[in-house]
Amino acid sequence: MSKIIASAAIRATHVLFKRAEKMLEKATAEKGKDFVFEFPDTAFYLPQIYAMTAFPVKTLADMKVALEMTRDMLQDEPDDKLWRPYLGEALDSGMATLFLEEIILALRYLNDEEPCEDPETGYVYNGFITDTIQRNLGIQLVDGRMPGFACIIGAAPDDDTAEKIVRELQEKNILTFLSGTAKDKSGKETNVTQQLLRKGVELGWESYIVPLGPDVEHTEYAASWSIRASMIFGGNKPGDYKAHLKYTKDRVFAFAMVLGELSDIIWSTGAGAIVMGYPAIADTDIPVIHPTGVCTYEHVEKELDHSKIVQRAFEIRGLKVTVAKPPIPVAFGPAFEGERIRKEDMFIEFGGQRTAAFEWVRTKELEDVEDGKITIIGTDVEKRFKEGGRMPMAIVMDVAGRKMQNDFEAIIERKFHHNINEAQGLWHMGQRDIVWMRISNQAYKDGITLEHFGIIQGTMTKNRFKAIVDKVEVTIYVDEEDVLKLQDEARAIYKERDHRLQGLNDEAVDTYYSCLLCQSFAPSHVCVISPERLGLCGAYNWLDCKAAFEIDPTGGNQPIQKEAVLDAKSGRWEGVDKYLQANSAGAIESLNLYTIMDNPMTSCGCFECIVAIVPEANGIMLVQRGHTGMTPAGMKFSTLAGTVGGGTQNPGFMGIGVNFITSRKFLYADGGLKRIVWMTKNLKERLAEDFKPRADEEGVPNLIDMIADETVAEDSEQLMEYLAKVNHPALEMDPMF
Ligand code: SF4
Ligand code: ZN
Repeated sequence: MSKIIASAAIRATHVLFKRAEKMLEKATAEKGKDFVFEFPDTAFYLPQIYAMTAFPVKTLADMKVALEMTRDMLQDEPDDKLWRPYLGEALDSGMATLFLEEIILALRYLNDEEPCEDPETGYVYNGFITDTIQRNLGIQLVDGRMPGFACIIGAAPDDDTAEKIVRELQEKNILTFLSGTAKDKSGKETNVTQQLLRKGVELGWESYIVPLGPDVEHTEYAASWSIRASMIFGGNKPGDYKAHLKYTKDRVFAFAMVLGELSDIIWSTGAGAIVMGYPAIADTDIPVIHPTGVCTYEHVEKELDHSKIVQRAFEIRGLKVTVAKPPIPVAFGPAFEGERIRKEDMFIEFGGQRTAAFEWVRTKELEDVEDGKITIIGTDVEKRFKEGGRMPMAIVMDVAGRKMQNDFEAIIERKFHHNINEAQGLWHMGQRDIVWMRISNQAYKDGITLEHFGIIQGTMTKNRFKAIVDKVEVTIYVDEEDVLKLQDEARAIYKERDHRLQGLNDEAVDTYYSCLLCQSFAPSHVCVISPERLGLCGAYNWLDCKAAFEIDPTGGNQPIQKEAVLDAKSGRWEGVDKYLQANSAGAIESLNLYTIMDNPMTSCGCFECIVAIVPEANGIMLVQRGHTGMTPAGMKFSTLAGTVGGGTQNPGFMGIGVNFITSRKFLYADGGLKRIVWMTKNLKERLAEDFKPRADEEGVPNLIDMIADETVAEDSEQLMEYLAKVNHPALEMDPMF
């Protein structure tokens, strides 16, 4: 690192130190040193500081301690050894900068100055990134839908360039954070957020563009968020800074892009990013700074052309992105999936109880399918389409393939939703005969026609299911009479499929499947997926895994032969144990699929829901990701989650997929459904339909009403009172341990 950068970074750190110190003194004078501070929804205090030092900042007095640590980091001969990997002056000042920025942002939260509002547009920035978001994104990160992260600091030379860069990142599925402010080419102070707002670009998590704030300091939210992945998924302990820095470098594919002139604070924030393994690329004089482990060197190039900056950043960070895109006149990718089409932006719609509509995948013989053919059947199709408004629609897709099985129809059909939503200006909701689709005015202007629905489904089906589907033919019906007639046929098949699935239980198969996708983030975690237990993220069931294995025999889902049963009640098999011994990085010796008490399944971090034992109630409680209230376990979801993840077995605690709760194998060895003493209202509502028949089976038809929720109990005392009042069956069951 050159001397100029090093001294700029060090200078900035001193400025930030003074600022943080002053703000902290003021806050302490006003609120007292014992004043408690928490960022919203995190179990990791001030996460950057906590990860690196294991020091939990809980109060203003703690903040003072953390502040003093940074003073040490800036001295050659520190007296306190709490934080001491000596990285060289500039890099230490980089990490110190991130600490100081985190303290400053915390104090701004405390003063209600965060998340801040954009003075020009009134737009409210995202502010601190919560643990929940980290977990929500978990699956996208591992299944390739989100291969990396960018943080753009500053402003592009003009609004058009800003949009172009961000659109390119969106099409490559990169999650982009925005921070800082700089001068554009006309000399006006602005930032990429404002530039995109002026271009009418939709911002937010759903569209993969997340404005953090208008200052460089806001970049720290991204750093503090990314380092939490190491604790949440990687199972690395707070304070194990070496492990964290290795994790962020090897597993978090992030880079920074600095647009506009550089300031001292940008240099020092950049130095912090480099310590974490994130290269920085700029459009000004010194465009690339590479991290290599924790030592760095720099690489000087001529000014970067904006049309190449994304490509260059990808090369430097070693990101390979292969995006499959159907030949359609609009952009395509998961970043467009979350986009809404309001009524006033809508050109035409199909289904949604307004017109008849459904979608259906049928298996055919190879000779009965004409590959690539798209047929539209109806009267005056073109004229009716041009008028806009509403239209009936059936999308019927015939597929054939030597490895195709009827069971895969539902899986292929379920992808219809994503296929259509990923097209910009197309929107899809529901499935089967309750679909609802819209085309936006803009997409119509861009040239989208009915035929494109067929093209999208055909191309993406072949793409996603290449090993099982050899031929695809799509027929679209738009006359009500045809749609209704075929719908009856489809409904009969939907029913048949559901029946088949219901009959599928663990005893009926001799093969389970593993899911190893999350090992890229949680190296020792394996989901063992059986017909009656889906993956803990909720996204993969047994059939999905079976299809995935057919599609890619060397991929993340592998068959596990059950072999000899070792314990039928607890759900333990010889083959499963052997598989785990070989595939869990030595972490798991044995697994019981049907209990939480003894060798339960591990958790990566993206579980939909947590089961935790409530010993005094002789039962268990359930809380879903995103619930922010207190639970009778005395912990919020975020804190509980911190004790569950990282790929270890934690008897009494487990992450699960929501649909597992109504499975007959849910805690089967522990007494099953009747053990539930508390669950959130949200879960009760989501499960209502499936819960009732299961409760009947267990002989407690009104079980759901006997289970407490946050409206009657948020601590153990209230819980016990309620359980006694309703005479909950768990009180009479055998002791859990
Ligand atoms: Fe990760 Fe398990 Fe979901 Fe696979 S099934 S993506 S391993 S949580
Ligand atoms: Zn996971």
